[in-house]
Amino acid sequence: ARAALERARNLEEVGATVAHELKNPLTAVKALVQLGARNPAEAASRARLETVEHEITRMQDILQDYLSFSRPLRPLEPEALELGAVAEGVLAAVSARAEQGGVALGLSGSAVVDADPRRVEEALLNLVANAVEATPRGGRVEVEVAHVEGAAAIRVRDTGRGMAPEVLARVGTPFFTTRDGGTGLGVVLARAAFVQHGGTLRYESAPGRGTTAFATLPVRCAGGRADGARAARG
Ligand code: ADP
Ligand code: MG
Repeated sequence: ARAALERARNLEEVGATVAHELKNPLTAVKALVQLGARNPAEAASRARLETVEHEITRMQDILQDYLSFSRPLRPLEPEALELGAVAEGVLAAVSARAEQGGVALGLSGSAVVDADPRRVEEALLNLVANAVEATPRGGRVEVEVAHVEGAAAIRVRDTGRGMAPEVLARVGTPFFTTRDGGTGLGVVLARAAFVQHGGTLRYESAPGRGTTAFATLPVRCAGGRADGARAARG
């Protein structure tokens, strides 16, 4: 009962935060659309439409994180999964953002595991999106997949701004974010997904040098008890 009460409180907090965080991008999109309604020739510039698209993507990301966090974890539906192919799909999904930000993307290796495709894809997307966001123009984000001792290892390495020790210590704590418009739920969700499979997620980072996220997934899925992952996300 206590856990249920805490969960309800958590959801209230989530609802209030979602509303708060959607306000800024919504206001920006509304202003640009109003401008378009009044003066179509003036407003239909490429830069403005790109801003609208960017703000809408941000709202989609915010909603996706909160929805995933609020929903009770469903049991895993594992199947044979080639992680290189999953990573390829994830990189395709962020390629427009990366190109706009002048960040090069790379992928190497392959590994077949028994895992839930949607959970793994969402987790990897969060890691890669964070890496792209943290990397300045001219930088690089590299995903490497390999087999290591009965498990698969996924490494997401960026040449971005890196994290100070006090940031590194808090990554993956619910609602911890240093980004304007961030939810602080991406790493929480990603870690919960890996842990639910019986895997792990950890970080190495140095300010100004970049960050590497190391994830593992067992080749054979641990069974996917939802309670283990719920404990993991606090
Ligand atoms: P959000 O992206 O909404 O801020 P996350 O849980 O995905 O939430 O990330 C939490 C915080 O961890 C980020 O705000 C950022 O400070 C830090 N972080 C995560 N990944 C990286 C990375 N690759 N490089 C630098 N900082 C990172
Ligand atoms: Mg994130």
